[in-house]
Amino acid sequence: MGQSYSIPRLRNQPLRRNLPPGLEPFLARAASQLPLAPYTTWRIGGPAQWLLAPDSPDEAAAILGAARDEGWPVFFLGRGSNLLIGDQGLPGITLHLTKSLGQVAFGDGVVQAGAGAYLPQLAATLARGGWAGFEFLIGIPGTVGAAVRLNAGTGPQQEIGHIVRRVTVLTPEQGVQALAAGDLQFSYRHSRLLAHPDWLVVAAEFCLREQAPPRSLQARHRAIIQQRRAQFPSEKLTCGSVFKNPPQGPPAGWLIDQCGLKGKSVGDAQVSTRHANFIINRGRATAADMRALIADIQAAVWKMHSIPLEREVVFLPEDRVSTR
Ligand SMILES: Cc1cc2nc3c(=O)[nH]c(=O)nc-3n(C[C@H](O)[C@H](O)[C@H](O)COP(=O)(O)OP(=O)(O)OC[C@H]3O[C@@H](n4cnc5c(N)ncnc54)[C@H](O)[C@@H]3O)c2cc1C
Repeated sequence: MGQSYSIPRLRNQPLRRNLPPGLEPFLARAASQLPLAPYTTWRIGGPAQWLLAPDSPDEAAAILGAARDEGWPVFFLGRGSNLLIGDQGLPGITLHLTKSLGQVAFGDGVVQAGAGAYLPQLAATLARGGWAGFEFLIGIPGTVGAAVRLNAGTGPQQEIGHIVRRVTVLTPEQGVQALAAGDLQFSYRHSRLLAHPDWLVVAAEFCLREQAPPRSLQARHRAIIQQRRAQFPSEKLTCGSVFKNPPQGPPAGWLIDQCGLKGKSVGDAQVSTRHANFIINRGRATAADMRALIADIQAAVWKMHSIPLEREVVFLPEDRVSTR
């Protein structure tokens, strides 16, 4: 925590043109000093030194290789729905994976989704095709790549690790690798990928096992969305659950509520009055406000319950550095 990057300056060139040589082919499509707040659901975060959206796994590999050769840090950004980006922004290269690497293709008994595919859209596509078992994805507003990394889900048996068959990752050491689900050590909000923050998920393959009438699957989607709207402050600027539920004991939201913290705020960051595991940006919250409120919550829960609350939300750049 707290370790800082300095922004590399290459070959004394001005920052605007300051891309590693291997990345020059992508210059026309790269954005420099682009504010990242609009790319996150909390609407918080300073600029990316460079933002790039690779069109293919080969392009992603070229970008990662060139960045590595120059010693530039690389960050991965999906829909920004589980992220707190620092007020100073991100140095080096941020790879944006949404529309790029977002293709969905059907094969023999399987569907392959690119890392940038949006989970609710994937759920809707599969429901239209009459494929059951994916309904819970309708409520998770993130990408396939990030969801696989964290084993996103909405309850027991309703986690991405239960439905994924194979994951393709791009690693600095071994290039493209296909990993079977059994190799990924999925458990609650955990996979082996968390220990490898420089592994880029490029695609995931899911088995198509169960069929159901599209109308019944779509009705199930509507019911899930309605239930989540009643339970969570979905209309506000949030990043979903801020903390993981502790392995033993009551859920994080209950623990926070017992400390009387609903409505507590630091600047414009406020604990939701509807669900205590959600923090809302009331409009002008900074990353520093969010961090301070998160630390206050952890301290209060520790003091009252002697339970350490582990963050689910990722802090960038710190988490990328400290897990290296
Ligand atoms: C209203 C709301 C409700 C939510 N409900 C749920 C829920 O029910 N269940 C749940 O599990 N989550 C939930 N979330 C959290 C979030 O949607 C999930 O964690 C989602 O998987 C994050 O996807 P993302 O594309 O937004 O990732 P980002 O926030 O962009 O990134 C998250 C992390 O993944 C890394 N990453 C992104 N893409 C890749 C990639 N291709 N390869 C490797 N690493 C990558 C990033 O560097 C970062 O560390 C909710 C969020 C919101 C805002």
